[in-house]
Amino acid sequence: VFQLSVPLNFLGSMYRELRQSLLDMETLFNLQKVNVQVKDAPNAKPLALTKGEIKFENVSFGYRPDRPIIKNLNLTIPAGKKIAIVGPSGCGKSTILRLLFRYYDAQQGRILIDGQDIRDVSLDSLRRAIGVVPQDTPLFNNTIQHNIHYGNLDATQEQVHEAARRAHIHESIVKFPDGYETMVGERGMMISGGEKQRLAVARLILKDPPFLFFDEATSALDTHTEQALLSHINSLVKEKRRTSVFVAHRLRTIYDSDVIIVLREGNVAESGSHQQLIDSGGLYSELWSAQETMFAEPKEEEDEGVAL
Ligand code: ATP
Repeated sequence: VFQLSVPLNFLGSMYRELRQSLLDMETLFNLQKVNVQVKDAPNAKPLALTKGEIKFENVSFGYRPDRPIIKNLNLTIPAGKKIAIVGPSGCGKSTILRLLFRYYDAQQGRILIDGQDIRDVSLDSLRRAIGVVPQDTPLFNNTIQHNIHYGNLDATQEQVHEAARRAHIHESIVKFPDGYETMVGERGMMISGGEKQRLAVARLILKDPPFLFFDEATSALDTHTEQALLSHINSLVKEKRRTSVFVAHRLRTIYDSDVIIVLREGNVAESGSHQQLIDSGGLYSELWSAQETMFAEPKEEEDEGVAL
């Protein structure tokens, strides 16, 4: 009996873990409204990373065929650099990230990572290589610990805490009623938008993927926390030479990017460094002037407190 119970216990715990991770995937997919039509190609191979360069070649895409959102887009995101995508609301910035993560496939053209069409690589290897901090982070109905740990299930407790410290959320967590064991999500404690964003950053730090995508990832933070978090993210990107893409409205958060891509109606209107774009006096310089005037006014802090 004893001899048998060991492997059975082992299998039991494997089963529980597997079931949990399947449930997690399901939750994540439901939460992120993933299009389940996108599937592995029959001979899909794992993504082979060499440099970390992304290329869009003549990419066109619309959620509905009669309403194109991305129009014949050509774009190179150089390896190991910090790239920003900016532009008017609705011009397709988030759509570019969704196409890269293969939530949807382009209707025309192709997206290459280190020369490989992302439709030819396995979804699993593609998504493992990418970490996203979305506009609205989905949380599992589980503990704070689990919500961060999900980024890398092999990480130790200490690594989870370290990631939380780096994401400037550890101090808040230890003040929650049950610390890291506090339940969050629909049935747990309500946490603010800013805390959710920092949890997502902690999850990303723990995952430590080669590609980092931030979609308005710090928009709910107060200016002080946002600056602290951005400077940490910047050093992470620089030290580890991660290819990172920031979608942002507030140009102050991205003006130091290596390349800024200004999108208009699904295509590149202009691109370059902050200084180049200011000097050329186009759309970016107009947006910059408008925001500088706006931010000259005193601004209220946005990170609301914890609602219990
Ligand atoms: P914002 O700056 O406001 O976040 P964005 O530039 O990131 O905007 P996208 O989110 O990429 O814009 O959306 C581009 C267009 O596609 C918008 O007109 C939007 O309404 C539309 N759109 C986005 N998601 C869907 C969807 N799932 N189904 C249909 N249309 C969509």
